[in-house]
Amino acid sequence: MPADPILRHCLELLSWAGALREKGLPVGEHEAARLAGLIWPPEEAAAEALADPYLAATMLWRTLGQGFRGNPNHLRPRDQDGPRLASDLLTLLKLHLRIRRGLKGLVAWPEEGQSMAGLDGDGGWCDLCGQCCCHCGTVPTPPQGVDYPPWFYHALAGEALLHQPFCPFLFQALERPLFFCALHPIKPLACRRFDQTDCRRGRPGRGFPGRAGEAGVALPFPPHL
Ligand code: SF4
Ligand code: SF4
Repeated sequence: MPADPILRHCLELLSWAGALREKGLPVGEHEAARLAGLIWPPEEAAAEALADPYLAATMLWRTLGQGFRGNPNHLRPRDQDGPRLASDLLTLLKLHLRIRRGLKGLVAWPEEGQSMAGLDGDGGWCDLCGQCCCHCGTVPTPPQGVDYPPWFYHALAGEALLHQPFCPFLFQALERPLFFCALHPIKPLACRRFDQTDCRRGRPGRGFPGRAGEAGVALPFPPHL
């Protein structure tokens, strides 16, 4: 149990929200506001973001809270890391709300959240673990004929938070900790080009190696295709 109350409350908030979403349960805004109030002065944006059905709450817990091994920039927080963790978390929560609003008119996601059953598409080898999106930023060039709001380019390049634990455009599905790209239909070219070979090179054993192109199999779309 960390001695620093800010660190303790951050970890409590992250594990609470991350575990709920891992089980496919919603995050209540009232309880989120109570826990957030232990960390920040009254901060409505934090509670609103935590209760949003698209927030990658489980990935926030894995990276910021547990020091997910895939991301060397986010080691498990130490005793002195409370203020930094609180600041990083609030930045990401506010950014999530901004992205949700910025997507309107660009990509239409259901208001109530995205069911894993709706994540069908091509390929079938990707297990939607989200690990390939745990990086410090990508080249934000959009597909031909697409233009993003100006600040999307900075957010995609990882300039909204140094160092970000994962791409802020990574969303979480409703029922299970499966992750998908908020920009899927218009994602940057660099993400579109990322394929099964790149996935395996990054960490052998990820995905469903034998299932690419398997006839008749309807599986979630690979976030990078
Ligand atoms: S696929 Fe989407 S979520 Fe992943 S890095 Fe690219 S833009 Fe971000
Ligand atoms: S492409 Fe690979 S690393 Fe990325 S989400 Fe799919 S299985 Fe995970």
